[in-house]
Amino acid sequence: MSQQLTIGILGGGQLGRMLALAGVPLGLRFICVDPASNVPAAMAAHHVQAEYDSVESMEALSQADVVTYEFENVPAHAAAELLRRNVAVAPDPQALVVAQDRWLEKQCFQQLGIRTVGYVRIDSATDLASALAELGAPYVLKTRRSGYDGKGQRVVSSLAEAELAYAELGGVPMIAEEFIRFSRELSILAVQGRNGQRAFYPLVQNEHRHGILRTTLSPAPNCSASLQSQAEGYATSLLSHLKYSGVLALELFDKDGTLYANEFAPRVHNSGHFSIEGSVTSQFENHLRAILGLPLGDTAPRSVSAMLNLIGDVCKASDVLGVPDAHLHTYGKSARKARKVGHITVLAPDPASLSTRVVALQRWVDLATDG
Ligand code: AMP
Repeated sequence: MSQQLTIGILGGGQLGRMLALAGVPLGLRFICVDPASNVPAAMAAHHVQAEYDSVESMEALSQADVVTYEFENVPAHAAAELLRRNVAVAPDPQALVVAQDRWLEKQCFQQLGIRTVGYVRIDSATDLASALAELGAPYVLKTRRSGYDGKGQRVVSSLAEAELAYAELGGVPMIAEEFIRFSRELSILAVQGRNGQRAFYPLVQNEHRHGILRTTLSPAPNCSASLQSQAEGYATSLLSHLKYSGVLALELFDKDGTLYANEFAPRVHNSGHFSIEGSVTSQFENHLRAILGLPLGDTAPRSVSAMLNLIGDVCKASDVLGVPDAHLHTYGKSARKARKVGHITVLAPDPASLSTRVVALQRWVDLATDG
């Protein structure tokens, strides 16, 4: 019998839980570190409740064969310390450093020739007026660090609004971005193995409300081969520049067939949850295969599918499971406004029956959640 490998995860949220659920059948063991109690991953992973960079965390994760992240705002120095202790860490901590800072991220896109909207660095309130002159109105103010799910950002239309938003966001370092009137939002999940093997999932289409992902359609409707290859080209540049292993998600704005990179996540991603049932190999399994240097799995869709996030509260299982080929995933989190507490994936043989099933599910989602 081969030796049982242990995967360490920085973070114990639902992404960690789904990674562990994908890895247990492969014979993997999981340790997650998260300072919170009762974390979603704890049902499938040994949970060490400690600060990410604490002595307990470093000691626990040093036992792992490879350490990964399920949350990009973990301190990059904790990942770097593990590397210093000769623990394998994947993706490379440099991917965390770049993804944690919107300025570095935009600079990285620019350096790699990846198209983005116009942007300006905001180091103090005095930069707000020149941003308005350069980007026009409205523009989007975003904190450089710690923003997620629409937090830490505001759309502003005048200097007075910008000054107010800057103060309300804490006067921390920010960037200002041109406001893009996109046709739609897309994302691509890319995966690179330790052995250099690469694979891409077909582009998916995402709908956000109040900055939070609500639904994903897989594959994105009406995607030409050239749009897919534009997205794969951007993702390939990132994977190779960051000497990456694992799944990387790149969020994109599609404006009339031209793709603008918004941000990337150095981890499995909410817009890839459909892949558990909707793809031959899920993003979670492929992430594990990649960081362990195993052959990557097929990324082809099994059929058209949709993912609906459950925000605030979960639906009744008996309602969801009454819809054909619908699958309910709950994360074991208590109900709270604007909190991602679960998701539903639904598959269908064709786009028309998918949309009928989504309409049926949306009714339950709207009744149970905060929409
Ligand atoms: P982010 O946290 O950067 O992913 O932004 C959350 C959501 O806000 C995105 O998914 C878009 O719907 C919207 N958004 C972000 N940046 C822009 C922008 N520059 N122009 C228009 N909408 C944006």
